[in-house]
Amino acid sequence: MPRLAINGGDKVRKELFPAYRPISSQEEEAVLRVIRSGVLSKFLGAWHEDFYGGPEVQALEREWAEHFQVKHAISVNSATSGLYCAVGATGAGPGDEIIASPYTMSASATSALIFNSVPVFADIEEDFFCLDPISIESRITPRTRAIVVVDIFGQPYDAERINALARKHNLLVIEDAAQAPGARYKGKYAGTLGDIGVYSLNYHKHIHSGEGGMLVTDNDELAERVRLIRNHAESVVGPKGTGNLINMIGFNFRMTELEAAVAREQLKKLPDLLDKRKRNVNYLSERLRKIPGLEPARERDGCEHAFYVHPLKYRGEVTGIPRDRFIEAVKAELMPSEMRLSEGVKIGCGYVKPLYLLPMFQELTGYGDKGCPFRCGWYKGEVSYQQGICPVVERMHFSELVTHELIHANLSDSDLDDVVSAFQKVWEYRGEL
Ligand SMILES: *Cc1c(COP(=O)(O)O)cnc(C)c1O
Repeated sequence: MPRLAINGGDKVRKELFPAYRPISSQEEEAVLRVIRSGVLSKFLGAWHEDFYGGPEVQALEREWAEHFQVKHAISVNSATSGLYCAVGATGAGPGDEIIASPYTMSASATSALIFNSVPVFADIEEDFFCLDPISIESRITPRTRAIVVVDIFGQPYDAERINALARKHNLLVIEDAAQAPGARYKGKYAGTLGDIGVYSLNYHKHIHSGEGGMLVTDNDELAERVRLIRNHAESVVGPKGTGNLINMIGFNFRMTELEAAVAREQLKKLPDLLDKRKRNVNYLSERLRKIPGLEPARERDGCEHAFYVHPLKYRGEVTGIPRDRFIEAVKAELMPSEMRLSEGVKIGCGYVKPLYLLPMFQELTGYGDKGCPFRCGWYKGEVSYQQGICPVVERMHFSELVTHELIHANLSDSDLDDVVSAFQKVWEYRGEL
């Protein structure tokens, strides 16, 4: 009789896991307040008192800035838009390079392409999966403009070393904190560690408004350039008297009053949601680390991690089973989560494929049919996107890293016990694999 579910045995868990549901009556009230006001958005794409948006948008921006202890907070309709604004605000353009992480959501790197700059990928740290300062330094050229660092999985980037590098080479640091709202580095909030930070309010993040994003910065000039790019800069710069026209081709990246009202309620809930998540991570880590071959990832010294996902290192040499086979067996013991059935059991081998392996980079096809920006006449560098350029990320992704989402605030200890039992059972009966 096989014991493992993957071979036809009984599953450890027979019910769905509860959904992550941070939305409740407070958000419902907030939405009704906006609906009843009749003003669902108040932005105007012209130099006018409504250029900066309506009351909910402006209140969210004030509250966000206060919460994260930063001078400016600027709402946008997604973190992707936020990254576009941030790169545009730096003045990057054709011929420039932007150093990016290969281990992140694709927009962290495509934000360079939007302004016809070339993303150059540096490798990641093997302990924390964020950009490695030594690898960054090896990628800096006279064409480098900015570094897009990512607080991946909720782990703040190595701000001390990377900010020092940026200062030395006169580069701006854009911090993608989409996965790290509330994480801290030496007491300072993730998102406020670089020159401009970006958060996401999409449905999958710690707190959400359906779709949405926030930018933060202490720099007045960058803040104003971001606000212009968000809302039709091209029509506004003339009447406003803006001198610097670089990248002042605007978009419509405006957040609605509805999303802003929801986001205001969500922000109030963030500290509690994070505490529960960290508690769940500790509960799991204590138990999972007893299973040979599994190592919950370390946290950087002096940091508070926000655990968008829980990273684990898998040691195939200890278990004698390749990672993907072991994890397939663990998943067979468990069940999907409510509201996200189609995504299956929320445990993954690695995270996303290293971004340079995307077809766009392999084929060097971005804008138009002439290879821009990679082979644009203004670009004098020779970027490489070959397999092997970032060996650490490839080893993590293809053989050592496991990430899972079964840590959110709506899970109970008994839900977590099932996760532990699934790993324990597969370890115990690994002979069946
Ligand atoms: C989710 C995410 C984004 C994009 O967020 P959107 O709001 O969906 O555009 C960008 N970067 C990282 C690291 C993310 O996790």
